[in-house]
This record gives sequence, C-alpha cells and structure tokens, in this order.
Amino acid sequence: MFELLKVDSSSKARLGRLTTPHGVIDTPVFMSVGTQGSVKAIDPRELREMGTQIILGNTYHLSIRPGMEIIRAAGGLHSFINWPAPILTDSGGFQVFSLATIRKIQAHGVEFRSHLDGSLLFLGPKEAMAIQRELGSDIAMVFDECPAHTSTPRELRAAVERTVRWARECREQPRAPGQLVFGIVQGGTDPSLRELCARELIATGFDGYAIGGVSVGEPEPEMLRAVELAEQFLPIGQARYAMGLGTPAQLVELVARGVDIFDCVLPARVARNGTAFTRKGSISIKGGAKKADFRPIEEGCDCFACRHFTRAYLRHLLNVGEILGLRMLSVHNTRMYLRVMEDVRKAIASATFAEFRREFVANYVPTQKVLLARAAAADR
Ligand SMILES: [Zn+2]
Repeated sequence: MFELLKVDSSSKARLGRLTTPHGVIDTPVFMSVGTQGSVKAIDPRELREMGTQIILGNTYHLSIRPGMEIIRAAGGLHSFINWPAPILTDSGGFQVFSLATIRKIQAHGVEFRSHLDGSLLFLGPKEAMAIQRELGSDIAMVFDECPAHTSTPRELRAAVERTVRWARECREQPRAPGQLVFGIVQGGTDPSLRELCARELIATGFDGYAIGGVSVGEPEPEMLRAVELAEQFLPIGQARYAMGLGTPAQLVELVARGVDIFDCVLPARVARNGTAFTRKGSISIKGGAKKADFRPIEEGCDCFACRHFTRAYLRHLLNVGEILGLRMLSVHNTRMYLRVMEDVRKAIASATFAEFRREFVANYVPTQKVLLARAAAADR
C-alpha cells in the first residue's frame, strides 16, 4: 500500500506513494480538512484543480450531523459529498476529549454529551470503526485518547494504556473494502511512553502510523520533540502521519523528520481572519496597510485568486463582508500549502531538499498569532 521511493541524504525526508481504494497519493502530502463534509468555502472541483489529493472527514461531527442514517442512504461519504478521491476519517477520539462533556471513561469507550444539544452519546473503538466503515473512508484512524499537553505523568500513562488497548480492539473490527487503518502513537513528551505506545501498536500491526498528542497547545520545540520521540520507532516501510500540524515552515521541518502526511485547519482558519500565508510568513490582507496595493497576494502563486485579483480588491471584499473575499483567501491558502508540498516532493526527488529546507525556513517569519491559532480545537 505504501511504497517508499526515496529517502533524502541530508535528513529523514521521504518520497513515497500511498495506494488507496480511491486513488494513489504522492507523499509528502497535505490533506485539506473537511470536518463537516466540506472543505470550508472551497468546492470539490476547485480542490481537484488546485491539486488536492486527499481530504479529511470527521467521524464525531458527521455522525452527529447529518447522522449516519443519511450518509448510509446516500451510499457513503464519497457519494454524499461528491468527492471522488481519497478520504481519511479521524476516529472522533480527539473531539470527544476536546469538545464534548465527558460523563464517564469506560473500558470500551467514552460516554459523553454532544457539544451541540447535550444528548448522551457513546463512542469507543467498536463504534468509531463501525462509523468509519459506513462512511467508507480510504483511511480510518483508531479510536485513541488524546490528552492535553498539561496532563500529569499519571494521566499520560493512563491515556497510552487505553490507546493501546483500544487500538487492538479497533484492529479486530470489520472494515470497508480496501480500507486502511492507521494506529496513533500517544505519550506526550515522555520518551518511554512514546516508545511503549509505538512498540505496542507496531506489534498489533497497522497499515500506517500517526503521531497524535501534538497540536494540543504545546510550544513548538515540544511538538518537534514529541514527533522525533515517536518517529524513531516507526517502521520505515509504512506511512507516517503527524496529526493537526502545522504552519508551512513546520511542515517542511516535519518532512525533514520523516513525516509523510499532514492535515491542518490553519489555511481555512486564518482565511477567516483575513490573513494569507506566503513563503515569507502570513500577511494580513484585511488589515493591509495600503488600500491601493495592486499586487497579488503572493507573487508567483498560480492560484485562482492570485491570477485574477489584487490585494486591494480582496481587502475591500473582506472589509465589506463579501463572501468572495473569504473564498479567495481560502483558495490561496490551500493552494499555498499544496504547492509547498509539491515543491518538497520535487526537492526530495532532485536531491536538493537540504537547500530547499534551509531557504524556506530562513525566509519564513512565523507570526505569534498564527502559532497560537493552531491550538484551538473548534473546527476539527
Ligand atoms: Zn495565490
């Protein structure tokens, strides 16, 4: 399912190919987040045209609204949302532990109240896998416990033990035809817990491995360290996915640490604040200093927004609350992420990744506001 095509000589960066029931994915890859069955403000035709290979759907949200009855009747998630290419679904674990009011953690799952209407629900390994089977995603994730980065060592250990036990239970459940299942390594920044979790999951045997418990509000050095701690134990020949990360520069640094798959809400979230990503960092279009700035958002960008509109016009649209402004920033930000990944793949293929990485990270100036925006959980 995963073919490792090349490993960079200067780092752990990898070029690969992941085969799924709905198509082949070139890695490293960025997944656009389609939490509610839609990548915010962008339609499937635009996503395909800008080179989107795979999107992420969300078990927790979709199972609450519209509910599985509707998606089942529609013939699964691909046909319900009219997306012909691969979909990865998360298990709902992250949302249960971050959005819902938990009533009780039990041996086989979590009893919780819906963040929407307070109704009492239950989600565990068996339920999460059944929902993902019916959604018909190409890649399903195991149901895990994602603890806050402020957790005590004891809480971290309990989360790892439950994650391992629940992962085994997920492994036993029936799947959709051809569906891949990824395990999730937890353990925070505790080296022994990361190792324990990785080894147990690998012994259970999954089609790929995710690094979870990152992007939970921790500072960047802690995030990078958590990824490194988990990555060293993961099998070379299988895909690795760092969940919920990150800024463009962080993605490049994580590729260099051996990660193949990413998803992040930032392109959509900062677009809603009138902010655009560029290779020099993020810039505010809405609050742009110059009203008469007739340059595109980013010189050299091939997205629809940059080919057709100026910063001045987009700034105007955002300031008068026209939907087109938000749509065009979302298009640009998403294409920006996809283009960074395309360039990363080209650089690894042509053995110039070290140079690419050095230049990219040197040019990219992160803003504190964007780094902080990463931590909020509401739209995943
Ligand atoms: Zn653009």
